[in-house]
Amino acid sequence: MSFHQRDGVLIPYEGFEMDSDVVIVGSGPGGAVLAYKLAENGLKVVVLEEGDYVKAEDLPRSRHERPLYAFERVYRNGGLTVAYGTLPGKPPIPVPLGIGLGGSSLVNSGTCLRAEPETFEKFRDFGINITYDDVEPFYEEVERFLNVSPVSEPILGTHGKIFLSASKRLGYSSGPLTRNIRGCKGCGLCQYICPENAKLAMHISYIPAAIKFGARFIVRSKVMRVLTHNGRAIGVEGEVKLSDIDRSKRRFRVFGRCVVIAAGAIYTPYILSKSGISTPVCGKFLTIHPGIRVSAFFDFDINQWLGVPQGYFVDEFKKYGIMIEGVSVPPVVGAMTLPFVGRKFKELIESYEKIMSTGVMVSDSGYGRVLTFGNEPLMIYNLSKKDAEKFKMAIYYAAKIFREAGAKKIFPHIFGLDEVLPDDIERVKDLDVKPSHLEPMAFHPLGTCRMGKDRYSSVVDENCQHHFVERLFISDGSIFPIPLGVNPQMTIMAFSLKNAKFILENFFS
Ligand SMILES: Cc1cc2nc3c(=O)[nH]c(=O)nc-3n(C[C@H](O)[C@H](O)[C@H](O)COP(=O)(O)OP(=O)(O)OC[C@H]3O[C@@H](n4cnc5c(N)ncnc54)[C@H](O)[C@@H]3O)c2cc1C
Ligand code: SF4
Repeated sequence: MSFHQRDGVLIPYEGFEMDSDVVIVGSGPGGAVLAYKLAENGLKVVVLEEGDYVKAEDLPRSRHERPLYAFERVYRNGGLTVAYGTLPGKPPIPVPLGIGLGGSSLVNSGTCLRAEPETFEKFRDFGINITYDDVEPFYEEVERFLNVSPVSEPILGTHGKIFLSASKRLGYSSGPLTRNIRGCKGCGLCQYICPENAKLAMHISYIPAAIKFGARFIVRSKVMRVLTHNGRAIGVEGEVKLSDIDRSKRRFRVFGRCVVIAAGAIYTPYILSKSGISTPVCGKFLTIHPGIRVSAFFDFDINQWLGVPQGYFVDEFKKYGIMIEGVSVPPVVGAMTLPFVGRKFKELIESYEKIMSTGVMVSDSGYGRVLTFGNEPLMIYNLSKKDAEKFKMAIYYAAKIFREAGAKKIFPHIFGLDEVLPDDIERVKDLDVKPSHLEPMAFHPLGTCRMGKDRYSSVVDENCQHHFVERLFISDGSIFPIPLGVNPQMTIMAFSLKNAKFILENFFS
């Protein structure tokens, strides 16, 4: 035996070789859901995960320490994965990624939204004949499995309650978000592995269920290459990471009748390219749903670290490609996000309990790409002027809601405008906001191996099978040809169920 075990998860201590029906690379929402469905139907499934198996109890409980440990253990590069602007005046955009059993579901906010039917209609421009109705049963199945339900009033937190009621008073379409939770206590630490195991991330939902059906999940196993023979995928090979101290390399190989890459939108094109099966557009058409934070100061305590950090939405402005969703962080992280330096910063951080933030996210008007020439993928993204304009209006709408909620000062996080008084927010609309005036972040990389009919302008067909390599599938965020406009994990999981159905019916029936 080459493995230790923890809860049935395999932790290798030497190289290994094994056979499977389907080998899957990556254990995030894309890989985990697919593994579950295939194993439930009796297939021999092996999932390879580069990261470690880290559980809730492996991190300190303290609100001040937990985020720092989580960044170290389950965020790739400590959270410092960045998309670089290559044109003058284009800001770098941090795009944090989870790494570990469960992928980014370990650290995500738990928001579960379906994409709109109109989004699926736009897929037709790429020759994809998948309608919302086709995907709806898969959405329903995931929602049932993950107990997707709206955030209840008591755990919204003061920030959620006052933001939502101000939005309602202004007549804006808004409400509590739906999330994959059971027994959420509103402790505010979702992005650092939920300490209560209330957020049903993959490592405590689909993965243990798949293991019960015999699927093997192997961590610390980085896939380097897809193996092919006569135009058909036959397996993968890579290196075992023994420990942080012991960096000696042990090889592994896993063979399968089908191979599925679910390493996320940044690493999937990288693996394909390193395997020499890149197509002309592999790595191109990266979309990220750029987002920014808007904050406000109140004359009463908000304690934004209490309550669900992302508990509400305002979708009034979605026709302009703008979504507003809660984003609250504990003081240890919040300090990095406040304006000012020196004495003014000190005063502000000392009254952190009176500050609240919200998040605005826009549907990209342009594309970035993933370059794959080095030892790690390189993300390039030039924020467009059009999206900077969208951000300006999104900041204005968020500021209006803050004003209605009783904020005394608003921090728009626009370079050159550190703060604005509530009576003065109309001036935000007149600003000439350029990409370089903003400090965006993004959490939803998509599109780098997009679906489509044409083999030269897309990477996979509508069944998510590679155009040029038989039995090679992609089942993660990289397949979507346009930004989804909402948080993507539900759509990724729904497509994984759809892909599982196709694989079962076409290769194992
Ligand atoms: C902080 C944060 C908050 C978010 N909040 C939300 C939210 O509330 N709602 C929502 O819908 N979405 C949210 N997202 C996005 C969502 O989590 C992702 O869209 C989703 O997890 C993507 O699933 P995936 O399976 O495509 O990729 P991932 O979840 O990224 O999983 C890919 C896995 O593949 C592994 N891998 C990569 N390369 C290799 C290799 N060579 N060999 C083996 N394994 C490899 C990685 O380690 C990783 O575990 C958030 C993301 C972040 C980072
Ligand atoms: S608010 Fe706390 S209990 Fe609820 S899902 Fe987030 S981390 Fe878990």
